[in-house]
Amino acid sequence: MATSQAPKSFRNFIDGEWVEPRGGQTIENRNPANTSDLIALFPASAAQDVAVAVDAAKAAYGKWRLTPAPRRAEILFRAAEILTARKEEYAREMTREMGKVLAETRGDVQEAIDMTYLMAGEGRRQFGQTTPSELPNKFAMSVRAPVGVAGLITPWNFPMAIPSWKVMPALVCGDTMVLKPAEDTPLSTYHLTQVLAEAGLPPGVLNVVFGDGPGAGAPILSHPDINLVSFTGSTEVGRIVSQACAPAFKKCHLEMGGKNIILVMDDANLDLAVDGAVWGGFGTTGQRCTAASRVAVHKKVYREFVEKFVARAKALKVGDGLDPAVQMGPCINEQQLQTVMRYAELGRQEGAKVVTGGHRLEGGAHARGWFHEPTVFVDCDPQMRVCQEEIFGPIVCVIPFESFDEALAIANGVSYGLSAAIYTRNVNHAFRAQRDLETGIVYVNAPTIGAEVHLPFGGTKNTGNGHRESGLAALEFYSEWKTIYVDYSDRLQRAQIDTA
Ligand code: NAD
Repeated sequence: MATSQAPKSFRNFIDGEWVEPRGGQTIENRNPANTSDLIALFPASAAQDVAVAVDAAKAAYGKWRLTPAPRRAEILFRAAEILTARKEEYAREMTREMGKVLAETRGDVQEAIDMTYLMAGEGRRQFGQTTPSELPNKFAMSVRAPVGVAGLITPWNFPMAIPSWKVMPALVCGDTMVLKPAEDTPLSTYHLTQVLAEAGLPPGVLNVVFGDGPGAGAPILSHPDINLVSFTGSTEVGRIVSQACAPAFKKCHLEMGGKNIILVMDDANLDLAVDGAVWGGFGTTGQRCTAASRVAVHKKVYREFVEKFVARAKALKVGDGLDPAVQMGPCINEQQLQTVMRYAELGRQEGAKVVTGGHRLEGGAHARGWFHEPTVFVDCDPQMRVCQEEIFGPIVCVIPFESFDEALAIANGVSYGLSAAIYTRNVNHAFRAQRDLETGIVYVNAPTIGAEVHLPFGGTKNTGNGHRESGLAALEFYSEWKTIYVDYSDRLQRAQIDTA
């Protein structure tokens, strides 16, 4: 597509310098709300660029791991201050590169700020354990140790928050790293990197290689000097990541897809539940791993809920997220829009009833971007593919149920396990739901989205592989426990044997 000026070109960040990729190939970064707006060109890096980045991270590791954690944390603290000062600028640029509305991109940058402050605090709190030994004149303790060089691979829907969830704990734990952000949102990672460099991060500690998955992501997974990999993205690619990490026993953290649900009981505050379903279903254009793509509603309040919910979905203003009146932005790219359109068609074929939406938005300014109508399917069978598969777009399936047990079975009857919510005033149902929903995150009287950085984040089943992002749980992944015994008895003492 033609543009009047030559687009800006960005480079990789390796060993503290912005460097050209070896192959000279580039990827266009375009505004999904207006595809004639070419934001910049970013490197389409390849294995040789990754290799140079890993070498830099490996070389920096020796010194960084010995830098006291409180000193490492001071750099994070400075980075958080810089990010705070630039929040508005970075939020606007993020809306331009990925489409979500400004209030949400401000939230994305804020999440990165929160995460950076949180991990800055952890620099002075890397507590281990001390405990009496079972033997006399012997001391026992455990301390956290860094793991080595981390490979970090991130998606486009939280372009600054998700990289910060990985980079900040890795930094404070003493790891060095190579980060490959999603090809659709490199600019936000560029900003985060720039901030850390300005805050005084030594060369080689964080290296950023831009590019696509097979070109720049895959070589990270197979590189022998990468010790741990943290990946957030689709379950399909997560499986590739897991398999690539297995032969060398790389520590591997996977945060993947979701098919989240809101349960609306017959005693719920219905208006509150409608608010939650609109925000959970259509926030970020439904492109959140925690999006409430299913809403199951008790039959006693089903008609009333559907009426209110559909009216709200219909009224949503869709457009360029930089317009303050707009409530929902575009899909991230053409491929994602096509996926949403395919599922809208599939739902109809499966017999779900479309009560609003169902089509691409093509008229007027919408013709310039990848817009889809907010879409609601009602009277869905929980086994339909639209109720089972992650769509990652503005489609919500409403499912009727008759009892709490049925609602629970519907909620748990999917292969994913990220987030679930229940709207009820019945404390027994609220507590049973907390206990019995098979998800990593449960909300009561709030939608499925809204995680806070100081608590663990992640899912079960096909959503995750047991690790957690965010909160103190993140330290568990980016460090490992070292157990130390000091025997000051001056004689051989045998644990489990010298028991007398
Ligand atoms: P994706 O899986 O297509 O891509 C994620 C990242 O992996 C990108 O950086 C991509 O370039 C890279 N990649 C792709 N193929 C690769 C390969 N063969 N080797 C190495 N890297 C490769 O996902 P996406 O479209 O960017 O993001 C959407 C998905 O992410 C959804 O499924 C969503 O649920 C999930 N997500 C999960 C969470 C979570 O915390 N659970 C958070 C956000 C998004």
